[in-house]
Amino acid sequence: MSKKVRVRFAPSPTGPLHIGGVRTALYNYLFAKQNNGDFILRIEDTDQNRYVEGAEKYIVDTLNWCGIPFDEGPGKDLGHGPYRQSERKLLYKKYADLLIKTGKAYYAFDSAESLDAHRKDHEKKGKTFIYNWHNRFKLNNSLSLSPEELERKLAKGDNYVVRFYTPQDEVLHLKDIIRGDIQIDTNILDDKVLFKSDGMPTYHLANIVDDHLMEISHVIRGEEWLPSLALHTQLYDAFGWEPPKFAHLPLIMKPEGKGKLSKRDGEKGGFPIFPLSWGDSVGYREAGYYPETVVNFLALLGWNPGTEQELFKLEELIKVFDIKKVHKAGARFDSEKTKWYNRHYLQEQEDKVLIKSFKAVLDEKLTDAEVFNPDLKNNDEYIASVISLIKERASFVLDFWELGSYFFHTPNSYNEKVVKKQWKENTPAILNKIFSLLDSLEDFSSSGLEETVKKWIGEEQLSFGHVMAPLRLIMVGDLKGPHLFDIMALVGKKETLKRISLALEKL
Ligand code: GLU
Repeated sequence: MSKKVRVRFAPSPTGPLHIGGVRTALYNYLFAKQNNGDFILRIEDTDQNRYVEGAEKYIVDTLNWCGIPFDEGPGKDLGHGPYRQSERKLLYKKYADLLIKTGKAYYAFDSAESLDAHRKDHEKKGKTFIYNWHNRFKLNNSLSLSPEELERKLAKGDNYVVRFYTPQDEVLHLKDIIRGDIQIDTNILDDKVLFKSDGMPTYHLANIVDDHLMEISHVIRGEEWLPSLALHTQLYDAFGWEPPKFAHLPLIMKPEGKGKLSKRDGEKGGFPIFPLSWGDSVGYREAGYYPETVVNFLALLGWNPGTEQELFKLEELIKVFDIKKVHKAGARFDSEKTKWYNRHYLQEQEDKVLIKSFKAVLDEKLTDAEVFNPDLKNNDEYIASVISLIKERASFVLDFWELGSYFFHTPNSYNEKVVKKQWKENTPAILNKIFSLLDSLEDFSSSGLEETVKKWIGEEQLSFGHVMAPLRLIMVGDLKGPHLFDIMALVGKKETLKRISLALEKL
């Protein structure tokens, strides 16, 4: 029987989660759910110097907002906890000791200064200093010291690290679900530090021990960890444990295609890099993106189903996502595409959700003095009608304001270019007549208006454009917007007539 699928997302709480990290979490989640497996959150906080207050909460909030909550993790112990490495601290020494006992690891006492001196010395000669088979027997460690000297140093409490003893002249055969087989010559590897005398394991040791104890079946993580795969594979071997299967995900690249997408790219291109706001960096959530958008665009950054389909909700992704089809090459980030997704998911939002968000925008943008009818700001029915007229062109709720502010306040300026082109000598005369025509109307519905005005244009033998363009200009302030008669009907007779008189005064 094959092992139960158990995957983990193992971020270090060193700050906000980059969207690349969110994608790693998402792929883990999808893989777990499609295999009826468990999705575990493990907080890798062994490096206390890099610990950032609030980062763990941020990670949890992000997973929840995206709709990909963890099954097991901090506060949700299902028998494999604790899930914060700082709370597992006491457990790792035993494993470091075990490796020393079996000769797979050794104590090293080299000071930071002496290692630095070696490094500089090598540099001068145009070489790189690597702590491994070349020199390990000449350095200050339990391989070069006599057993008595070693005893003495340990008893004295000298600072040490535990290093992995990389075997010489071997070829490692590593396996990666996405990259296939990789061969590594052990002679190019260094003897990585696994444990320090302050009692803390390094990432490598803690990561392997925890993945083993937590019965992780698949490790799905970013490509930046691929260079660690050789050591990790050797560690499993050294402990005599069956390794999990590995999948290293491609990087998310800058919009230009070269290099990893960074916070700076976001600042330059005016798009978020973090899922939620952090400090003064605006997150996807706060910028008006929907979790469906983030899930959808991230799923397709590095994977596609092999068809033309681009729109996927979480439930469908769980069915069709295929870790084996994740690309090797980096995935270029495209902020226009993310907007395109958001436009799609905005159309799908329930009216009441859009109304609520738009009201918040209106509260910020409109003062009572500006609204031609103060009740409109709180009139859900009116707001819903406005939204239904403009939402097709919106990617964000904030766009509603750009697209439809004139539904709430009388235009106080007119696009000059349009005025120049459309405001003809006979325009005031036409508008005066229209004013009387509309003033006499009982039926101010969109269809009623359309019928009356079109009939009138015919009778007066006017050109359609000569009437409609100036009329739109005075209703909207510009030549844009939805169907003109819809606008007039919605703002109502009184306001329409007011706008006509105002324009006649001003233009
Ligand atoms: N703590 C590592 C990180 O911050 C996790 C690497 C892994 O998944 O093995 O990305």
